Amino acid sequence: MMRTAPVAGARNWAASSPPLLRFLTACHKDFAADDSGEVAHYIPELGKAHPEHFGISLATLDGHVYEIGDSRVPFTIQSMSKPFVFALALDTLGATRVEAVIGVEPSGDPFNSIRLNAENHPFNPMVNAGAIACSGLILEAKGDAAFDIVRQALSRFAGRELDVDEAVFASENATGDRNRAIGYLLRTSGVVKEDVRKVLDVYFRQCSVLVTARDAAVMAATLANRGINPVTGEQVVTPYAVSRTLSVMTSSGMYDYAGEWIYRVGIPAKSGVGGGILAALPARLGLGSYSPRLDAHGNSVRGIKVCEALSSHYGLHMLSRADDARNAVIADYNIGKSCSRRSRRPQERRILAAHHNQVRIIELVGTLSFSTVDYVSRQLASKPRPQFVIFDLRRIAAVTPAGGRLLAEEFQELANFNVTVILSGIDRASGQWKSIGEWAAGLSNIRNYPLLDDAIEWAEDQIVYRHGGNIYAVEVTELAEQMLLAGLDKEELDQLTALGTVKTYRPGEKILAEGEPASSLFFLKSGVVHVKLPNGIRVATITAGMAFGEMALLEPHRSADVYADAQVTALEVQLADFERFREDNPRAGERIMRNLAQLLADRLILANTKLNLLTAT
Ligand code: GLN
Repeated sequence: MMRTAPVAGARNWAASSPPLLRFLTACHKDFAADDSGEVAHYIPELGKAHPEHFGISLATLDGHVYEIGDSRVPFTIQSMSKPFVFALALDTLGATRVEAVIGVEPSGDPFNSIRLNAENHPFNPMVNAGAIACSGLILEAKGDAAFDIVRQALSRFAGRELDVDEAVFASENATGDRNRAIGYLLRTSGVVKEDVRKVLDVYFRQCSVLVTARDAAVMAATLANRGINPVTGEQVVTPYAVSRTLSVMTSSGMYDYAGEWIYRVGIPAKSGVGGGILAALPARLGLGSYSPRLDAHGNSVRGIKVCEALSSHYGLHMLSRADDARNAVIADYNIGKSCSRRSRRPQERRILAAHHNQVRIIELVGTLSFSTVDYVSRQLASKPRPQFVIFDLRRIAAVTPAGGRLLAEEFQELANFNVTVILSGIDRASGQWKSIGEWAAGLSNIRNYPLLDDAIEWAEDQIVYRHGGNIYAVEVTELAEQMLLAGLDKEELDQLTALGTVKTYRPGEKILAEGEPASSLFFLKSGVVHVKLPNGIRVATITAGMAFGEMALLEPHRSADVYADAQVTALEVQLADFERFREDNPRAGERIMRNLAQLLADRLILANTKLNLLTAT
């Protein structure tokens, strides 16, 4: 009996489906033809499972769940519960207590082996002995509430309330003497301290919890996601418990097939005699499959095939990973190549040109990992040390623990050499700052600017100060110093002055608004203004001696807003008057248009350099 299931998460347009769903669908179709293996009968109730049922589900870490076939058919979780209860035990009793009585060595034996290790402890938590010991520990800690706590934990992993199949529980309880024998053995060696009947009651119930392939995929994805359920967002267990659980899944999850499994598939996994297999590929995905026919090891035949196919088709073996740390640096330059948008007076420009290699900017992308940060630190060390390093992190999505630690060490190293570190592109209020900023906390040499341009401007200001420049000096400039008017003689300048009106503005006042008719231009005599796009991005900061609104000479409307940063004095010349002036003084008019062309060319060169920095590396 085969049914084509409605596909969850399919796109609206009929013919299209994501390639991964297509792949899983093809696996489902191909492996459904395999009817080898036997449904487990040793727990009589399990023998009633429909041998043809076959469901596959894959959950991604962004919370998307692919499903195909009988992905919503419930079956008992059985040994697939073991990793989750082990993780729960680690978090509930503490690693020391748990690790004192349950080993982590593969046994090489079948799941129901009664053999214990040299200390008379279970070999690992993935075989029945270890799982029974875990149930005992939880009973020890939680008393009669133990099973419900286990059930609730499994439910949080699955992201929905899970129930027990009472018939399977009764059936296993009635026939589980071998497991009972293991329980008594563990009691003689002091691993189990509680009443063995109660311990087995918890264990059998835990094995009888009903899940679907979809649940198994989400549960596995939670392990792959450092304990955070990617669908509900809940942190179910600690990252410590998760990494230890994945470790034992890797070495022992598939019992006496574990070595072969990790060699061929290379994804931590756990099977159950109910027919389920779940596989958790850290930082990638969780897979759940259900097909009750089992091989001689007690692993689902089709489930194994799905895992093998997924791993080999996409090369997902966890030990086959490649990453080039160099890709993380998308631009590395100093202010000689790309400075801030603040327009500088000649004195400032001279200082900055002489010391351009004192401000280094490194723009990063992706994940800050151990290798990325190491690479960046060597890039920094390969050239003379600057006084300021700006790390632009706006394209950084995550920091790994190792990357964060190495970054903090690099910051410390830079601090030792009196290098000021500036982080740009991250907002202190955001979650991103938490992951990056926490590594920077407590280091006094770190500054933070949400915008890269502000960070560069601040660093430039420091360089100017350090070399005797004075940025905010109240300075009144003469029209003769205007770049736009360079080359005009005194008479021409006087004539222009007479045409204009002196205007003053308070700090913060809006001088020009985007979209308005552009009917005048301004020569800034004193103070500072900035030009801002409607989206809030600052295009330029303009200081005394520069013009603004000069695009009016070319464009009929204002292309940006202009605000006063400080007390501002400017000479406003109406466009109509300016045109008349140009007609009366053709030579001066020609000079002005040349100067304007030069200013625009400079801006274009700067914009091109920026573009080049971002695309050429
Ligand atoms: N409840 C089953 C047992 O103890 C679990 C075994 C399994 O799924 N491998 O036999």
